[in-house]
Amino acid sequence: MQSSKFNVGVDVGGTTINTGFINQSGKIISHTTMATEAKRGSEAIIQAIIRKIKLMLAESGKAQKDIGSIGIGVPGTADSKNGVVVFAPNIFWQNVQVSAPLREAFNVPVHLGQDSRAAAWGEYLVGSAKGYKNTASITLGTGIGCGMIIDGRLFHGGLNTAGEFGHMIVELNGNKCNCGKTGCLEAHSAGLFIVREGKKIPDVEKILRKNPDEVTVKDVFRLAEKGNTYAGKITDSVVSYLGMGFVNLINLNSLELISISGGISNAPDELLLNPLKEFIRQRAYSAIADKVKIVKSSLGDNAPMIGAALLDKSAE
Ligand SMILES: [Zn+2]
Repeated sequence: MQSSKFNVGVDVGGTTINTGFINQSGKIISHTTMATEAKRGSEAIIQAIIRKIKLMLAESGKAQKDIGSIGIGVPGTADSKNGVVVFAPNIFWQNVQVSAPLREAFNVPVHLGQDSRAAAWGEYLVGSAKGYKNTASITLGTGIGCGMIIDGRLFHGGLNTAGEFGHMIVELNGNKCNCGKTGCLEAHSAGLFIVREGKKIPDVEKILRKNPDEVTVKDVFRLAEKGNTYAGKITDSVVSYLGMGFVNLINLNSLELISISGGISNAPDELLLNPLKEFIRQRAYSAIADKVKIVKSSLGDNAPMIGAALLDKSAE
């Protein structure tokens, strides 16, 4: 039986590594997950990825020669042209050559990119941003990730830091952010903020029957949905700050579509997506406020893996 070519996509996250065999239309042929043992160092992780791909080949009965290319998405700054992860603090990587060992092991082209840009690339080619040439793909999780397609190309920026949307300033003297600065969008709207505020909900221990330290983003949205006033204030505030960020991003770049993914995007539509759309309709530049589309990602959590598999020279 003749098997057709496929690509390998690897999404290296802070806690898990997702590896998938992806066909040319972006469909997942097979998929596995393993823990990111960041403490063991970059060399051990790269070797674990190589072993995982070999194991997947064996298990799926596919041959190494059927791999078209391998794409790696990483949670940090990547030098795509040279295959080097410049800085990825979550996994403690600094100036790590990633592409070469994989190229040596499999003898195929290897592409490297930041996870949020890989996700945007995936959404653009085969996901919810397909058919649009100016888009942003935003992951609303513990922090905020953002990748952008500008005029049909993956946008890196002159200094290779494009898309630091989460660190857009939304308050002059605002909350402290993980990046070391203050007033960043993610410090006012992402998971860490929601959880921190959620712990302050009056009687939260009694209401949720759990330790305040175990409060999750989901809990806060669920309480808001049930009419808890304090939780409602938190989620309203999240929508306002995200709305500000989205409007600024749309006005600046004339985006046609923004797709959202990540844990927070799973909040009930009436608490997040709908009021966010309404905020944008009211506050974005008039000529485009009714035109820009805000949608949920169709690739979801798999976007970085699928997008990484589809990376090519044109995305560097
Ligand atoms: Zn920041």
